[in-house]
Amino acid sequence: MNSKWIKRLGVLLLLLLLVFQAAACQKTAGQGDTEEDGTASSYIFTMGTVFDIRVFAEDASEIMQEAEQALYGCDSLLSWREEGSLAYRFNTEHQADMSEMKEVFEDALQVSKDSQGAFDLTVLPLSQLWNFDKLGDSDFDVSTMKVPDKEDIAQAMAKVDYTQLKYDDATGILSTENPDIQIELGAIGKGYAIEQAKDVLKRSDASGGMVSAGSSIYVCGTKKDGSRFRVALRDPRGDENSAIGVLTLSDTTISTSGDYERYFEKDGVRYHHILDPRTGYPADSGLMQVTIICDDSVIGDALSTACFVLGLDEGMNLAAKYGVNAIFVDTDKNIWYNNPDVLNYFEFTGKDSGYVLNEYNQARS
Ligand code: ADP
Ligand code: MG
Repeated sequence: MNSKWIKRLGVLLLLLLLVFQAAACQKTAGQGDTEEDGTASSYIFTMGTVFDIRVFAEDASEIMQEAEQALYGCDSLLSWREEGSLAYRFNTEHQADMSEMKEVFEDALQVSKDSQGAFDLTVLPLSQLWNFDKLGDSDFDVSTMKVPDKEDIAQAMAKVDYTQLKYDDATGILSTENPDIQIELGAIGKGYAIEQAKDVLKRSDASGGMVSAGSSIYVCGTKKDGSRFRVALRDPRGDENSAIGVLTLSDTTISTSGDYERYFEKDGVRYHHILDPRTGYPADSGLMQVTIICDDSVIGDALSTACFVLGLDEGMNLAAKYGVNAIFVDTDKNIWYNNPDVLNYFEFTGKDSGYVLNEYNQARS
């Protein structure tokens, strides 16, 4: 592992979701290891992020290897930077056969439609202009980040429009007549990768496991001691180790989008990596964090981004449409959950930090 990755790992480990680990599976960052008691744990670096994987099974090390391979395969399929990826092919040839990831792509397109472009697969010209990706590199000096010129934002916005994507669901061919239209799958990449590793775990005889990409985390079964995984929800305005609550769950994915993951401040304004394609600027919807709890990691990842852009009422409507549980945090420090079931697994700990827990009543909107 080179030093850049070691630094990046350090930063990422402090990021969004902190997993409370059983003492049995504590490990040193950057090393994969397997204990004789059927516990394997590993950190791998792919898709610009660190994946933390745990497996509890007799043949834990084989399952782990397979899960790692599944994760490594995702970047070359999704990343618009990777020559030969589906996104790269579409962006250079204005046409690509998406059959290899048909369902995932269709889900992402559907969320683009259902959110009326708050989530937009064609956001690339805007995200390249803002360039928040740079903030993922810990060698990068945040103070050099700039707010783009208004004209440049307007020009990029003119190239963002998912309705110009033509998709043939019989052939899986995606095309566009507008050569300015480019896709990026950044907002669903982690969800997609987690689904691949999840398939490996589900096919195996593991009694439990976890795949975490920081802001998206899948948990299944139980830990070695029979307890379920406890996943902390980060305080969006606290330090990396402070939480507003803990989710105790299994067999589901928790996907979070927040305005504290990649951001810079200029003149007292926070500019973050979740963009509103309708304004060209970072979403300013009155939310600081959105968490979606959902069986399908791709849908969860797409919805967390979409709901963040849409704001409380429209976001809650979208969550209801997909029948997923959601926890939103607004800028007044209200935490909103959309279903009383959430209280069965969410332990609220944010009172002392000024947060207030409320049930969102769909009738509000
Ligand atoms: P994270 O990747 O930090 O978990 P998200 O899942 O919310 O966060 O995805 C944010 C990424 O998605 C951005 O870095 C950018 O590449 C892309 N993106 C930003 N805004 C949008 C949008 N409105 N629609 C689709 N993708 C977006
Ligand atoms: Mg997302």
